[in-house]
Amino acid sequence: MELIDGKKISAEIKDECKEKALRLIRSGKEPCLAVILVGNDPASSIYVNNKKKACEYCNIKSLSYELDENTTEKELLDLIEKLNNDPSVDGILVQLPLPKHIDEDKVFAAIDPLKDVDGFHIKNVGALCIGKPVLVSCTPAGVIELLKRSNVEISGKRCVVIGRSNIVGKPMALLMLSENATVTICHSRTKDLEAVCKEADILIVAIGKPRFIDSKYVKDGAVVIDVGIHRDENNKICGDVNFDDVKEKVSKITPVPGGVGPMTIAMLMSNVITACERK
Ligand code: NAD
Repeated sequence: MELIDGKKISAEIKDECKEKALRLIRSGKEPCLAVILVGNDPASSIYVNNKKKACEYCNIKSLSYELDENTTEKELLDLIEKLNNDPSVDGILVQLPLPKHIDEDKVFAAIDPLKDVDGFHIKNVGALCIGKPVLVSCTPAGVIELLKRSNVEISGKRCVVIGRSNIVGKPMALLMLSENATVTICHSRTKDLEAVCKEADILIVAIGKPRFIDSKYVKDGAVVIDVGIHRDENNKICGDVNFDDVKEKVSKITPVPGGVGPMTIAMLMSNVITACERK
């Protein structure tokens, strides 16, 4: 069994972004990400801080907007409009979750697709659907980088994705299709999940249930990618896969922590660079 090292691969990607940012700065285009946080969810504050730190490391300017919990939808949409019209801003990220009185779909739709570094705008999702991805949702884009940089062949392989969320499962399946895998998507109504998963050469798990997938679901020699992040009853971080149970069976696997997790921010940096280069 070989571990797929997300820490190492994400560090490589951030170093590449840093180089590209320097080149952009020399040509007079400083990459810039605007991050908007509404309310004071402690987990969101940590994510936003990590994003700011990654920007600093990669020579990307970051602007931070920390708005009160009671900010109205109109006030948020007005800020997005202002940032859309600001030529010095390349990427706009609205940290999720938003307070209940704000409609997430309206917010995604308001962000200029050229600055949509989370890849959630319908135009970017549509581009991915027709096989012309530009700005792609960061976590699934990170999984593709993990596979490619670990020399996992994707073309022609049977891939099963567990989960059909708009943020992970669906874009993940579309990206694997773009890479010429034969893709099956499983979800909460799938019958005989075990049998379907056992067909997979590459099993990508985004089911949102701690240590749910054990060796019964895994074919001998499969590559397993665990997108899940949870804290277990002992406050230990774990994924959607029961790592200890499957590790003898797989050829390659991502650990949690240190697998998919660090890739998400690295791909965000990469999307900001892409947006700036296209300007
Ligand atoms: P979600 O809850 O929106 O989606 C879970 C999916 O699993 C759903 O589509 C559902 O149909 C499917 N599912 C649920 N029970 C099932 C069952 N019994 N059989 C088959 N399918 C079933 O979650 P999400 O936002 O897509 O996230 C998935 C996981 O990835 C979570 O653990 C989340 O914490 C993690 N995550 C990690 C990162 C990262 O940066 N590494 C980013 C986003 C999400």
